[in-house]
Amino acid sequence: MAHIAFIGLGNMGGPMAANLVKAGHKVTAFDLVAALRDQAKADGAAIAESSVAAVKGAEIIVTMLPAGKHVLSVWNEVIPAMSRGALIIDCSTIDVESAKQAHALAARHGMLSVDAPVSGGTGGAKGATLTFMCGGEAKAFAAAKPVLENMGKKIVHCGGVGAGQAAKICNNMILAVSMIAVCEGFALAEKLGLSHQALFDVASTSSGQCWAMTSYCPVPGPVPTSPANNGYRPGFAAALMVKDLTLAQDAANAAGAATPLGKHAQEIYRAFDAAGHGGVDFSGIMQHVRSLAGK
Ligand code: NAD
Repeated sequence: MAHIAFIGLGNMGGPMAANLVKAGHKVTAFDLVAALRDQAKADGAAIAESSVAAVKGAEIIVTMLPAGKHVLSVWNEVIPAMSRGALIIDCSTIDVESAKQAHALAARHGMLSVDAPVSGGTGGAKGATLTFMCGGEAKAFAAAKPVLENMGKKIVHCGGVGAGQAAKICNNMILAVSMIAVCEGFALAEKLGLSHQALFDVASTSSGQCWAMTSYCPVPGPVPTSPANNGYRPGFAAALMVKDLTLAQDAANAAGAATPLGKHAQEIYRAFDAAGHGGVDFSGIMQHVRSLAGK
């Protein structure tokens, strides 16, 4: 079992760190928020007074932070304090450029590093069923995989540095576009007098089939576990979707890729967020799509 430092104990990081404890690792944890440190302690982690103190003696360091600037700031602080030969893994969703800078920082100090953003949300974090999309050298990935397996069920090596972040934003751009498309299908069905169940029964087994339809259906009824049945409580909040779509657009602009539907999806989710619905599950965009009728 390894000595693991975990930095960033929020909605995702808290339960992920708890799963590492459950798997038998020695976990030393830190977050800026005292209440989250207390929760990690209750989950069985040792608590450090700072990020730098947390990484002392650890073989593996995991960060789960809001954005690229937080990751670069924490990695700048902790990398000089890491033990020789230690591995640092960032599981946050951040821009590809910051991810590459973070890897370069680790490489300058002779440390192995992996970008490993996740899919699966808070449910996946609690249930240790996350998918990890990893970028980095083969040697770094091989060292990270057994630890990630304690927090997830699918661990994919996507390529070199930043490839995990690239996969994450491409996937979420597809998800946002397909969710809006499914919502438009249901909104049109409503106007045409077609029931939700009838459209679901056809589209879920026909060429309109996709995850947004079959696993996360944005209208109540057909998929009882979807947030639509629970007042659109997240799940995956619309504000986080805005974040990921913005990362995708920034990457598309920097790389010279044309993503017109991704751009439009960003505009639609931004409008939903600006109207005060950032905390609603992203499938709640169904309400926004309906509200566009006649405009
Ligand atoms: P969160 O805001 O709940 O947690 C982030 C934590 O980082 C906070 O507790 C904050 O106090 C801590 N933090 C910030 N700066 C710090 C510092 N310098 N030192 C120590 N701690 C610091 O966010 P979250 O929902 O847990 O998401 C974390 C990351 O995972 C984000 O990048 C997010 O985009 C991504 N993600 C979230 C979800 C989800 O459903 N919530 C799903 C997939 C990916």
